[in-house]
Amino acid sequence: LFDASMVQVTNALTRLSDEASSVRSAGLDSGLTNALTEAAPIYRALWWLRHDAANRRWIAAVRTLLAEHGDSAAQIEARIFQRPWASPSVRVDVCAYTNWAGAYTTEGPSHMNMASLSPGNRGTLGFETLFHEVLHTMDDSVFTALRDAFHTAGKRYFRDPTHPFIFYTVGATTAKLFPGHVPYAEAMGLWARNPDYVRILPLLRQHWQAYIDGTITLAEAMRHIAEAW
Ligand SMILES: [Zn+2]
Repeated sequence: LFDASMVQVTNALTRLSDEASSVRSAGLDSGLTNALTEAAPIYRALWWLRHDAANRRWIAAVRTLLAEHGDSAAQIEARIFQRPWASPSVRVDVCAYTNWAGAYTTEGPSHMNMASLSPGNRGTLGFETLFHEVLHTMDDSVFTALRDAFHTAGKRYFRDPTHPFIFYTVGATTAKLFPGHVPYAEAMGLWARNPDYVRILPLLRQHWQAYIDGTITLAEAMRHIAEAW
């Protein structure tokens, strides 16, 4: 990728596993430091080899997909989100487990954590989630357009408003690059389960898709969505 386009995928727990002292110097709460220091030898003996192998397998698999279509996905999504692709780089750490969703991103600086054992990160879903997480760090143009359009329409936008745009865009892009890919939100039933998502999906299909296809502008797409909301 990301060699050209910049995500370093690393095996996060290597550091923790290699250096016991890194737990002490990580600046964590002392109770947590003590618990981790006590658990570390057990973790190392029982789990680390398996988790390390799973992390390496995940990294190798996603690197193959990235070599194939990583640059195209970055280019397409940067154009749609009207932001330069995440630069200079986004750090991606891979762990056996991360959070309930299987991936999360913290900002300032951008730092992504991906779970190698999460079923939602298998195969091309891992590729999709990687790009999904990066878009969380570059969604401000989309947010500004959305906020302005809802303000003009005199409507309140929903909670976490750029998220369905990220799901839709990355899902559609991944499916275009890897025919047969079922987007994450579809595979996990998000479009059917979350009431805001149920409501916005037809608007995304109509207006956001028209913007993706280049027939209307970002501002026009948001205006249509806000008016129909
Ligand atoms: Zn997300």
